[in-house]
Amino acid sequence: LVSRKKHPEDTIVSIKGETVGDGKQRLIAGPCSVESYEQVEEVAKALKYQGIKFIRGGAFKPRTSPYDFQGLGEEGLKILKDVAKKYDLAVISEIVSPQDIEMAVDYVDVIQIGARNMQNFELLKAAGSVNKPVLLKRGLAATIEEFINAAEYIHSKGNGNIMLCERGIRTYEKATRNTLDISAVPILKQETHLPVWVDVTHSTGRRDLLLPTAKAALAIGADGVMAEVHPDPAVALSDSAQQMDIPQFHEFISKLVDSGLYK
Ligand code: PEP
Ligand code: MN
Repeated sequence: LVSRKKHPEDTIVSIKGETVGDGKQRLIAGPCSVESYEQVEEVAKALKYQGIKFIRGGAFKPRTSPYDFQGLGEEGLKILKDVAKKYDLAVISEIVSPQDIEMAVDYVDVIQIGARNMQNFELLKAAGSVNKPVLLKRGLAATIEEFINAAEYIHSKGNGNIMLCERGIRTYEKATRNTLDISAVPILKQETHLPVWVDVTHSTGRRDLLLPTAKAALAIGADGVMAEVHPDPAVALSDSAQQMDIPQFHEFISKLVDSGLYK
């Protein structure tokens, strides 16, 4: 169902009046974790200023350690929804349990399935059973074939509004948190008809690499770029090393615009 061979035309996903996959390049930005209304609102103002429609924020956080911040849960989704309503933004947030998919539909505009859950088949089937776009992230050590099959699980349940997101894979290289597989972008564009995003924050884990990797993603044909922004990354409850603060975010956007790759 997701194969380009069977369906040559691009899938264009419509989210709150904005489209993804039609050749225009989009941005998703927002904090790693939702921490408070004020925190999300500060980021929302910056997105609004830049004309960016998609705000992200994790409410259910799949953390490596059980002692790390696990997210605000449904309360976090409510904060995102309230801020998005005030600023006319679209919300993208990760859901980790199949049982929470129905609940999430009331709060989010896009259901994110995270790298750690790319092969949680019950979660994929649950996301495939609702009428809500899904952003599916590539697994930590998933091949492109496995990634495409995960998308197929969602589509097989009836939901064809799927967007893929390359977010780096695990290799022996330690200079970056993960290794951005930039060639996955044109491969996924060739093999499937789905929009393809690149998450530069989790790919690199390095603030200094966000701009060059975002340029690479846009140059190679990604439909959009995801990056994390926090009003005060030093005190962020997750991913404090790689989130941009608000001035850095504005600089990031203006440099992307200057590059001519992002319009
Ligand atoms: C995220 O986007 O918040 C996230 C946890 O990313 P990933 O699933 O790619 O690690
Ligand atoms: Mn993060």
